Formats: sequence, C-alpha cells, structure tokens
Amino acid sequence: MENGLSPASLAMLSDSLKKLERDLSDLLTTTESDAQPTPLKENASRLSRMDEMHNQSILRANRIVTKNRLIEVQKAMIRLEEQNYGSCLNCFEDIALPRLKAYPEASLCIDCKSKTETI
Ligand SMILES: [Zn+2]
Repeated sequence: MENGLSPASLAMLSDSLKKLERDLSDLLTTTESDAQPTPLKENASRLSRMDEMHNQSILRANRIVTKNRLIEVQKAMIRLEEQNYGSCLNCFEDIALPRLKAYPEASLCIDCKSKTETI
C-alpha cells in the first residue's frame, strides 16, 4: 500500500531509523558490562550495596526498553524496504508525519496506539 509520504520524507525517516539503530545498538554495547551482576565488595556497606542493586535494576529495565525499541526500529526498516512503511498496522490509515518524525519506528497511528495503552 502506498503511503502519502514524499520521497524526501521517506529518505529523512530512513536516515532517522538508521541513526536510531546505530545509537540503540551502541547503547546496548556500552551498558552490557554494567548490567552484569557485580561481586559483593568486601568492605561495601549495606547501603551502598543496596544502591548498587537499585542502580542495576534501573539499568536492566532501561536495557529492556532499549532492546524492544531496537526491535521496533528494525521492523520499521523492513517495512520501509517492503514499501509498506508509514501505514498503521491496525487500521491501515497513514500515520501522521509529525508522529513518524518523533517516532520513526511507529507501527500504529496515534488513535490505535492510545487504544492499546490501557495501563
Ligand atoms: Zn490505526
């Protein structure tokens, strides 16, 4: 299905997706070692240990978000190749350009997205 996106918009969004993919992959690489469980330091206070565990749990949660976003970015790149990028996967309406600029990996239009976000 043809989306109403101009070739210029498509080229720009394609660049955004490539950049996102690179940035997200880099982020996962650089945070990989920090996400590993650290051995208990002998003289670490209980409080600093708890701090460390807390920081790690945040880091791990962020990595999951990053990984999921990377998957969405890669799926969007496939849709771009298959020339069905920019259409909502649920209602098949065009996704608004401002939304794609903000979230180039978006697979749902704003209406369908807000319906899926029930929590
Ligand atoms: Zn939709």
